[in-house]
Amino acid sequence: MASGGANYRNGTQRNSLKGTTTATDRQLSMNSNPSKAALKNKSLSSVGASSGLRKSSPGPLGGGTAKDDAGVPGRVRVAVRLRPRNAEESVADADFADCVELQPEFKRLKLRKNNWDTDTYEFDEVLTEFASQKRVYEVVAKPVVESVLDGYNGTVMAYGQTGTGKTYTLGRLGEEDTADRGIIVRAMEDILADVSLESDSVSVSYLQLYMESLQDLLDPTNDNISIVEDPKSGDVSLPGATLVEIRDQQSFLELLQLGEAHRYAANTRLNTESSRSHALLMVHVKRSVKGRELAHSSQNGNSTNMAKSLRPTLVRKGKLVVVDLAGSERIDKSGSEGHTLEEAKSINLSLSALGKCINALAENSAHVPVRDSKLTRLLRDSFGGTARTSLVITIGPSPRHRGETTSTIMFGQRAMKVENMLKLKEEFDYKSLARKLDIQLDKLIMEHERKQKAFEEEIERITTDTQNQISEAERNYADAMEKERLKYQKDYMESIKKLEEKWMMNQHKLGERKDQMASTAEEVVELQKLLSKETSLRKAAEEEVNNLKSQLAQLKMSEASANSEILKLRKMLEDEAYRKEKLEGEISMLQTQLLQLSFEADETRRRLDRGGPGKVLGGLDSLISQVRPQVNDSVNEEKASIANLFEQVGLQKILSLLEAEDADVRIHAVKVVANLAAEESNQQKIVEAGGLTSLLLLLGSSEDEMIHRVAAGAIANLAMNETNQELILSEGGIRLLSITAANAEDPQTLRMVAGAIANLCGNDKLQNKLRDEGGIKALLGMVKCGHPDVLAQVARGIANFAKCESRASAQGSKTGRSLLIEDGALPWIVQNANNDASPIRRHIELAVCHLAQHEVNARDMITGGALWELVRISQDCSREDIRTLAHRTLTSSPTFLAELRRLRIDY
Ligand code: ADP
Ligand code: MG
Repeated sequence: MASGGANYRNGTQRNSLKGTTTATDRQLSMNSNPSKAALKNKSLSSVGASSGLRKSSPGPLGGGTAKDDAGVPGRVRVAVRLRPRNAEESVADADFADCVELQPEFKRLKLRKNNWDTDTYEFDEVLTEFASQKRVYEVVAKPVVESVLDGYNGTVMAYGQTGTGKTYTLGRLGEEDTADRGIIVRAMEDILADVSLESDSVSVSYLQLYMESLQDLLDPTNDNISIVEDPKSGDVSLPGATLVEIRDQQSFLELLQLGEAHRYAANTRLNTESSRSHALLMVHVKRSVKGRELAHSSQNGNSTNMAKSLRPTLVRKGKLVVVDLAGSERIDKSGSEGHTLEEAKSINLSLSALGKCINALAENSAHVPVRDSKLTRLLRDSFGGTARTSLVITIGPSPRHRGETTSTIMFGQRAMKVENMLKLKEEFDYKSLARKLDIQLDKLIMEHERKQKAFEEEIERITTDTQNQISEAERNYADAMEKERLKYQKDYMESIKKLEEKWMMNQHKLGERKDQMASTAEEVVELQKLLSKETSLRKAAEEEVNNLKSQLAQLKMSEASANSEILKLRKMLEDEAYRKEKLEGEISMLQTQLLQLSFEADETRRRLDRGGPGKVLGGLDSLISQVRPQVNDSVNEEKASIANLFEQVGLQKILSLLEAEDADVRIHAVKVVANLAAEESNQQKIVEAGGLTSLLLLLGSSEDEMIHRVAAGAIANLAMNETNQELILSEGGIRLLSITAANAEDPQTLRMVAGAIANLCGNDKLQNKLRDEGGIKALLGMVKCGHPDVLAQVARGIANFAKCESRASAQGSKTGRSLLIEDGALPWIVQNANNDASPIRRHIELAVCHLAQHEVNARDMITGGALWELVRISQDCSREDIRTLAHRTLTSSPTFLAELRRLRIDY
């Protein structure tokens, strides 16, 4: 890497880290005036090159930081600058030759020891009293500035006796003449020209070190700034110092002036001068590396787009330290010029410590006393550290200060031996990434909050709007409803009005139609009734039809068997017809015989008037026995044959048989008589022939119930005739009938008896006699059998009797209460007045009406409960004539009416 000899290589190529060196290194001459572009393209070849005369030995100071990381060797560059004679010197030293002779072309300095002896020293650059400020900057500082811009630390330091031009070289602002601008101003110009204000930053601290106290020239109150060293990297920082960011040259100049003013004030306050203190300007240049440079510089860099946003920026932090040291004469002359011991010690301390360190470094001493002073601590990176360091030693021409000049030259010579290991100050800017992310996060949080607020407001707005709309809609709806309601109400009222008018109009028409409608309604009701009746009839008919259908089915089933039965019966009928023919023949024969016999019987009776009846009876016996089979045939045949008998045999003969001894004969005879009595035409003849008397006798004499029944039947038939009735009564018929009834077991017997008495009851003349004979009681005695046929006859009898009594009462032939009541018939009457059987009921109803017609019966009837029956009859009786009769009877009876009134019955 090292290139040629004693040439002071100027500058580092920007792409130095590629490790490429070029052969175009150009030796800078005092006359060279390289353009900026030319400067930028200068090679770094000189870095690490040692002077041809003095080999500098690399080796970090104080446990330097370059031990671990491979740095780029970079010796401390030293230039010597001779100040032109000043006016004083021009006058005072006019007779003396200068103590130094410069040979800038050889970069040599000859120091005149005396008039005959000189020492020659080589420097990296020898700057004559004619060297322009621009050239001094470019030769001494520019390479350092460029390194700082590339991310290295850099130091530019001026060392020399007071008044030799350190401040002139470093700090001249050049406000009057821009050509006068010193290193600091030019360095900042180059820095600001190179950095991007968007991505890079330039900030400045300005300090003064006086008596081991570090003062902030940008903040005079801050006069004890502590030095912090990073034990790992060896980096020195001053966290307490004011750091001002520089955006433009003008503000920097103002800052420098401010610092200078503060320095002046401080020095006035401390009663010192600037030459007694060290001034330090620190320029921090922070640059972000991107694009191509990043790709090259970051070996493990991941440049995918995805990672980009979250990848911290790679930054390079170069620090330029410009040090304007206190006058070096103080080392030797301390105390000699009235300085306090303390001050001299302090000034000595820092400068002598620096000298010691330089010596140690120059001699590769194991121990470098960096920590002996604040100055050496502050400059630890500048000498034996990682910084590119340029030292300009200033000397004056005056031979009077040969000593100081010599010591300055010697300092410079030693410093040239100090080898630094330049190290790129490159790191990922996690802090700013974190800060950026924090900012971003805060922005997002704020944005989120804003949006949330806006969202909530929007929601609230929408809610309010919606509620308004809803209430609006509700209002509208209510209004519409109200309108609609009013409209309908109006319409309704109008309709009502119209309807009323119509109604009024129709009312007249309606009146006309009303009657018609009423009748129609009635008709409708009637029709409805008929319809329901028809419906029920139809239903019944349907049921009947169904019934008949099933019966028909049954009949059809039995038809077959019936047919065969019919055939059988026809056969039998034919047989019977044949037999009948045969019997008819026999009958005619027997009739002949009978006539003959009756003739003979007449004969015999005539004879019997003299003889006994035994024989005749025997004859009749045979007659009857002969007749018997014939009279057992059907009734018609019997009647016919009996009629024939009556004509053929004669009534007298038949009646005589009633008294026959043979019970069978008597039975047949009484049947014959009964049959004859049924015919009205025969009745007169039968009675005249004594048949009635015979029948009555038979009732008394016979014990055969059949005879009783048949005889009573015959009597009943005969009792229909009024004459016969008297006869029956006179011959004790009532008594006989009563006895018969008392003994009867067959209801039909009782029916006949009751029928006979009932007939008798209908005779007006026989009322009292009938009653006296016990007729009424006999009737009432028969009711206990309960047979409806019997009861019907009893009822008829009572009705007949009551009718006759009523008639008699009406005619005045009867007084006093009814004999029926007397004989206790009333309870039965009341009991059966509403009998289910209509014949019974009708007779009793009539009887009640007849009884009621006479006030004399009224009290009994009331007591017996008959009044109620009368009331019922008057209202419920199905026969209108009886109903009317009952009503009339009731209303004409004061007793009944009184009773009804008494019972508060509104009749
Ligand atoms: P120092 O800072 O070393 O004490 P200064 O920079 O203050 O010295 O210089 C002392 C005087 O010399 C100043 O008046 C300055 O203008 C002048 N001077 C120094 N160097 C030069 C120079 N190269 N050309 C002209 N004048 C100079
Ligand atoms: Mg000065």
